[in-house]
Amino acid sequence: MLRPLRPLAAALLLTAAALADPVPVDWPMVARIREEGLQHSRVMDFEGYITDVLGARLTLSRDMQRALAWAQGELRELGLANVTAEPFMDFGVAWDNEYVSVHMLEPDYSPLVAYPLAHTPGTDGRQVAQAVIVELTTREDLETWRGKLRGMAVLSTPPAAIDLAPLTNGVPRYTDEQLNALEHTVIAPVRPAAPRVPNPDLLTSEEKAAFFKAEGVTAVLQSESGWLGAVRGFSRPGTRTDHWSAAGDSAAPVMIAVTPEHYNRMYRILKRGIPVKVELEVRNRIGQQVEKAMNITAEIPGSDLRNEVVMIGAHFDSWHASPNASDNASGVAVALEAMRILKAVGAKPRRTIRIALWSGEEQGLWGSRAYVRQHFGIPGDTTAPKKPEYDRLFAYFNQDYGPGQYRGIYLQGNEAARPLLSAWMEPFRDMGMTVVSNQSVGSTDHVAFDEAGLPGFQFLQDRVPGTGGHTNLDFYDSIQPEDLMKNAVIMASYAWHAAQSDVRMPRKARP
Ligand SMILES: [Zn+2]
Repeated sequence: MLRPLRPLAAALLLTAAALADPVPVDWPMVARIREEGLQHSRVMDFEGYITDVLGARLTLSRDMQRALAWAQGELRELGLANVTAEPFMDFGVAWDNEYVSVHMLEPDYSPLVAYPLAHTPGTDGRQVAQAVIVELTTREDLETWRGKLRGMAVLSTPPAAIDLAPLTNGVPRYTDEQLNALEHTVIAPVRPAAPRVPNPDLLTSEEKAAFFKAEGVTAVLQSESGWLGAVRGFSRPGTRTDHWSAAGDSAAPVMIAVTPEHYNRMYRILKRGIPVKVELEVRNRIGQQVEKAMNITAEIPGSDLRNEVVMIGAHFDSWHASPNASDNASGVAVALEAMRILKAVGAKPRRTIRIALWSGEEQGLWGSRAYVRQHFGIPGDTTAPKKPEYDRLFAYFNQDYGPGQYRGIYLQGNEAARPLLSAWMEPFRDMGMTVVSNQSVGSTDHVAFDEAGLPGFQFLQDRVPGTGGHTNLDFYDSIQPEDLMKNAVIMASYAWHAAQSDVRMPRKARP
């Protein structure tokens, strides 16, 4: 007896049959999108406003509140529908750095380039402190230092090695060989790392921070940047917003990141046995209560398939020591410009096209994961009940690998998506967009979709190092306008073709 095909299997067969035909490319629409995006681009206007006027966008900061208000106004001005600020989770308390001033006073005066770590407390006014090297590793180290650190400024990390290469190479482009490797190299699927067995003798970052706090140090200085002039690393354990008590106390001491040259200089002087005196003042504004963070969405409503949705987006939040022009103002500018282009060419898509600007990405994809949970089901648990919207999401396209030009797109392990993604790339080969890579990539918001079994894709971009990576150096000046213009055109075209497609985006088999 023949068993009737289950609906899913039937759908897969239909998809496979339909894909046997060539995937159509809407060349007249591509021409209009290219003309609008390359000759009337506003992408650097968006990029410039976000980075120069709005500045850093730490989730729940006042800067971010201002940026969220601006984004909603901008989306309305573009004529988009359903502009929505969607609160998610009790994220933590608001935190803003309002002032930082750090100097070496002795043995030689020098102002130091330094920033407080996010979510750490400020100093009690201006403080002058003797510096001391304290590298805590094991529990025995605690006994060595107990009772000796009150009022000191602790140099807590080893001297930072500086890599000079990234800032001197100009704008790197993938070579044909590298692209070829990205297209064809078979990569074993990423398995979750086995949980690390903690060595009870070694101190965790939280334990070190708690020790310094309890010992009453004036500040903990550190340098983890490998880059010339760059302060880097704003996500140390023990400094998250949820470590604040209702009384407004932080579990962390005052923690300050210093550029490697300035940090290493003090370290070397101390190693000579010569005292170093520093002066420091940090003022941080700390919220009084736990608040929700916000994602922003807006739409071009669809027509006959309006209940189905194609999403594009990027994370709007950033770390706090620069406007983070590449990470990820560039992705936001591209997504905004893609929507602007589609409106400007009068696109009337079949499916609804929705832009999402996420928050809380830098602390762990909180915004996109909350959104996926809210709208589609439970990320990471493909046996959990799905919401009706789960089957109506066509695909999500994300940009977050810096400001480099798109050179392709990652399949994210979804080999069946290759015919669609490859056909839609065809009009942009002359721009250098040539690779459908079989690799799966991580660390940003498409993962929230992918881990829920939804088609979430990240574009493959030329990697531009040196300014991104959560530093104090990530400004408008390092952005290549042509790259962002091309990206916006390509993102708009992918959104359009996805919205018009006769066949559904294939999904990976559920485990
Ligand atoms: Zn990012």
